[in-house]
Amino acid sequence: MTEQTMSNATIAAQSMAFCTTCGEKIAKAAVACPKCGAPNSLAEPMTSEKRMVPAALLCFFLGALGIHRFYVGKVGTGILMLLTLGGLGIWTLIDLIMIIVGAFKDKQGLPLAR
Ligand SMILES: [Zn+2]
Repeated sequence: MTEQTMSNATIAAQSMAFCTTCGEKIAKAAVACPKCGAPNSLAEPMTSEKRMVPAALLCFFLGALGIHRFYVGKVGTGILMLLTLGGLGIWTLIDLIMIIVGAFKDKQGLPLAR
């Protein structure tokens, strides 16, 4: 192994971790294991830079236009929501509930800050 590959391996090892449940190699920053869904105990609790209250207000007043999804950076699904008028309101209602219970995630998959 050359010095170059060794240093690359070191970098990879520093940013990777192993799932304590299934042993799958996961990113250290990942909130949960993508394979088995177990929460990653190494991950520091992180929240989005976007906040829950403005997201909830945007969803309540402009949710059918997907504005709250644009707010959290989910532009793709925001456009989809705009075109479908929030899934005729159903999708918007689900999003509003998700925001209020704290289950709504931003573009990076981080929960919104309270
Ligand atoms: Zn796992």
